[in-house]
Amino acid sequence: MPRAKKFYTWAFRRLFEYVEYKAAVVGISVEQVSPAYTSQRCSKCGFTHENNRPTSDGQAVFECLKCGYSPHADYNAVAGLRPAGSKVA
Ligand SMILES: [Zn+2]
Repeated sequence: MPRAKKFYTWAFRRLFEYVEYKAAVVGISVEQVSPAYTSQRCSKCGFTHENNRPTSDGQAVFECLKCGYSPHADYNAVAGLRPAGSKVA
């Protein structure tokens, strides 16, 4: 689709604005966090390496080479976003 990137940028900006508005109503601040390397970064110790994802076809697999932490890959990626966005307790 021509200009798809422009559409996605617009759609995500609108989504963020809605979330920010609704959160403000109940007193919650909203911050955007870069998703870069979240699939490769250990949410427990912070070690980041592409080999933390041992197989290319097992998308659910995550195992930290440094500390051995091995949660579901999707859980790890989401949990890894928390420190960067949790300046307020
Ligand atoms: Zn680790």
